[in-house]
Amino acid sequence: MSEATDAATDTAEGGREIPPPGELTASQYKGWSCVWCGTPLTHGGRPVGVTRGRDGAHVLDAPVYAGPCCP
Ligand SMILES: [Zn+2]
Repeated sequence: MSEATDAATDTAEGGREIPPPGELTASQYKGWSCVWCGTPLTHGGRPVGVTRGRDGAHVLDAPVYAGPCCP
């Protein structure tokens, strides 16, 4: 990972924006649910990017996933 911090939002495939960690449910943040519609990813999702944020000294960046619900 680089130290580049100028990108406030990440853009995934298809031009969709990935919401910041504060707008995701715990399930979405952990990659258990689709990052865009919240559908549980019972069969596993595909990685679509990284949600980026900070809480003080804590970096909240985490990989997020989407399922066939959001092709
Ligand atoms: Zn979805």
